[in-house]
Amino acid sequence: MFLERLERPVTVLDIQRMSTEDGPGLRTTLFMKGCSLRCDWCHNPESIDSRPLIQWNSHRCIGCDSCREVCESGALVRDQAKGRITIDVGSCILCQACVDCCPSGALHLKGEQWDKEELLQELLKDRAYFGREGGITLSGGEPLLQAAATLWLLEQIRREGLKTALDTAGLVQGETLLAALEQTDLLLYDLKIYASDRHRKYTGCGNEQILANLVAALAKARRSGTKVWIRTPLVPGVSDREENIAGLARWLANFGNEQIERWELCAFNNLCENKYLMLEREWPYRGVVPQTRAKLDRLVEIARAHLNGREMVVQWTGSAALEKDQKGGEVG
Ligand code: SF4
Ligand code: SF4
Ligand code: SF4
Repeated sequence: MFLERLERPVTVLDIQRMSTEDGPGLRTTLFMKGCSLRCDWCHNPESIDSRPLIQWNSHRCIGCDSCREVCESGALVRDQAKGRITIDVGSCILCQACVDCCPSGALHLKGEQWDKEELLQELLKDRAYFGREGGITLSGGEPLLQAAATLWLLEQIRREGLKTALDTAGLVQGETLLAALEQTDLLLYDLKIYASDRHRKYTGCGNEQILANLVAALAKARRSGTKVWIRTPLVPGVSDREENIAGLARWLANFGNEQIERWELCAFNNLCENKYLMLEREWPYRGVVPQTRAKLDRLVEIARAHLNGREMVVQWTGSAALEKDQKGGEVG
């Protein structure tokens, strides 16, 4: 059903090598562009738009205006009042003349279009390091928005004898997700907010389809042998509320199955603030303090208490506020 779209180039945000955060072992992670959600805390806001974009970095710009002189489309404008360069996305033809001429590396193309065969070879380059556990993770944005490419890549990676992981936010067509599971060893599935109205408020969409897709995916995973890790970003005052974690835990107790190996509660951080600046947007969580270890431990406790005995590892990941331990604390 996706054959007609297979010849399109794949729009890639980034390829991260030696990753330890997107599944077990050492992995190469492909970040694809485009997302169906609009989470207000998104840590990769440049991944949401499906198109490649030019980004400007205020910290690097020395104000020489060379970029404006070479841009034949008139897409670069200096905002004198704010002392910054703005980019008219509608006029920009992505020629990269500005990127090439910038003396301080202040301009970057975010998102590149790859031929699928060349992309596959790029992903396979580090296979010697994967070992028994590692492999290749397809992530985003939302990788299933480029369904034909994602399905093809998963199949080819498996044919090479390597392990596959798929990282999805779940707001996709159910049949696409189920087709992808045929070729997926590990499904990383985001569950963010239990109450649908709050999910809509903070992500732009209710969670009904995401939950329904997960129910279907878990049934399919049982048949395909796919393991599942649930991931919940802990956003202060939004998803790290105790009632939210309890609600998600009760849902997993009712609708989960033995394919779920792990539930990760991902501690908040402010590392993406500069990305928002480059997109000329305000980071809504500026100055918000990450969770303390005590708070993270408490949320893990609540999760376990409401899972009603359903077996899975529950752990928080990332860094706690005012603490040096980067590894996270595992419980259960
Ligand atoms: S990529 Fe080309 S068209 Fe776009 S802003 Fe730079 S020079 Fe102008
Ligand atoms: S060429 Fe680079 S350093 Fe010069 S104004 Fe443009 S972005 Fe800034
Ligand atoms: S699902 Fe992920 S990539 Fe998409 S908007 Fe939300 S946080 Fe960003």
